[in-house]
Amino acid sequence: RDLPGDDETGPRVREVRGALWSSVMPTPVAAPRLLAYSPELATQLGLGQDLLDSPDFPRVFGGNALYEGMQPWAANYGGHQFGHWAGQLGDGRAISLGQLVAPDGRYWELQLKGAGRTPYSRGADGRAVLRSSIREFLCSEAMHHLGVPTTRALSLVETGDPVVRDMFYDGHPEAEPGAVVCRVAPSFLRFGSFELPASRGDVALLRHLADACIARDFPELAEAGADRYGAWFAQVSERTAVLVAHWMRVGFVHGVMNTDNLSILGLTIDYGPYGWVDDYDPDWTPNTTDAQGRRYRFGTQPQVAYWNLTRLAQALAPLFEDVAPLHAGLARFQAVHAQCERDDTAAKLGLAACGDADLGLMADWLQLLHEGEMDMTLAFRGLIAFDPLAPDMAVLDDAFYSPDRRAAVLPALQAWLQAYALRLQADGLDPAQRQQRMRAANPLYVLRNWLAQEAIERAEQGDLGGVHALQEVLRHPYDEQPGRAHYAGKRPEWARNKAGCSMLSCSS
Ligand code: AMP
Ligand code: MG
Ligand code: MG
Repeated sequence: RDLPGDDETGPRVREVRGALWSSVMPTPVAAPRLLAYSPELATQLGLGQDLLDSPDFPRVFGGNALYEGMQPWAANYGGHQFGHWAGQLGDGRAISLGQLVAPDGRYWELQLKGAGRTPYSRGADGRAVLRSSIREFLCSEAMHHLGVPTTRALSLVETGDPVVRDMFYDGHPEAEPGAVVCRVAPSFLRFGSFELPASRGDVALLRHLADACIARDFPELAEAGADRYGAWFAQVSERTAVLVAHWMRVGFVHGVMNTDNLSILGLTIDYGPYGWVDDYDPDWTPNTTDAQGRRYRFGTQPQVAYWNLTRLAQALAPLFEDVAPLHAGLARFQAVHAQCERDDTAAKLGLAACGDADLGLMADWLQLLHEGEMDMTLAFRGLIAFDPLAPDMAVLDDAFYSPDRRAAVLPALQAWLQAYALRLQADGLDPAQRQQRMRAANPLYVLRNWLAQEAIERAEQGDLGGVHALQEVLRHPYDEQPGRAHYAGKRPEWARNKAGCSMLSCSS
């Protein structure tokens, strides 16, 4: 069914109390055109090729029409932004179309991002620009193929309507093309979904939401009776710990880990000013909005995740007579994160298991990457080829950005490689097993910021080839792909401090 055009008033922006969603319709766009889609997700959802090829598909996923049964809504939630309670936020530019039951019986929520204003849009336009939509589309699917829990992206539709972002983005003072991404997840509930009713003292609504979340998304806990909230919080803590450990493993910086951007399911959610670490630097953040506070740096992500869980625990406290299970849940985060760190250390360095001393070995290695200004991805991939019986630094040559920094770090790096060679010799794994283990933990292809930017600049000229090529390469991030060295390349000099490449702002 077709949707009516934007009327003069649109949805009334307001505080919504006593409810966690509002009924709302996407606002139709001028000329919806399908630019890309994820065939693997479409298959998983049971969407056939006929549907993908039909002219209705871009109309529905651009916000101009609905399929039978769709009843769109926008969710209401709050959040702590940059450490401060921000009150009601809500889906200001996301509109869920409905829930779909896939052929495997799983539930998936389909949500348009950039489909127009909602009661939660506050002063903003409810739209998204093409460049940020490409970044969300590509990175969601890339993360999935990396084995990192994430919301997915089904489609990328150009709207044909210009969007102006001069307030936020220095590089594009003019209008730029708009787009809509359809993102997909079992649920888009966030920590902030629970914080909002708690902040208003609405315990009945908080309990209702917690019960609904457990029943739908954690059905195995529904049996736990009175203890279910504690068991559930422990699960959320555990998933969050696993999630950030993955981010640290692959070199992903979320960039805006506000509590409204942390999924209750432990999924990576809200791809905004995220970035990928090039030269290893725990203090790097891609988010220019965070340039002062530098709260959301690569290396601080585990601590920030923990802090966010403490905010969630506080919100959930009214559901508990005794808050001991909340403390236990927070301790669970620490324990699980420590275990993930050990597992990832072993896997990334190619050890059968991680002993206490190996944590030190890893810390020393990362320190060398930092001091030597070495590319994180290429340095770990380089180690795969390292032969402990014939130690040779040459395996790391590709990883350096500067000959000076290489020279400065050389003696310490040689000493470390000696220690690593001895450690590998003492380890039980045979070389082939070790290399296989390392290849599975250390991706070769990640969505480097400059690669995304290259694809975006081509797309803005009407050439989608770069987007499709990246989509293809990032399907197999751990496998060496002949002829695709470009996509495993170090950041070129032009991209070092370029907006869009290593500097991004929150709302685009
Ligand atoms: P974010 O920093 O992306 O997590 O967004 C924070 C809040 O701002 C959320 O409530 C978003 O829905 C809202 N928001 C961001 N961009 C827009 C926009 N262009 N129009 C309306 N709301 C927006
Ligand atoms: Mg958000
Ligand atoms: Mg965002």
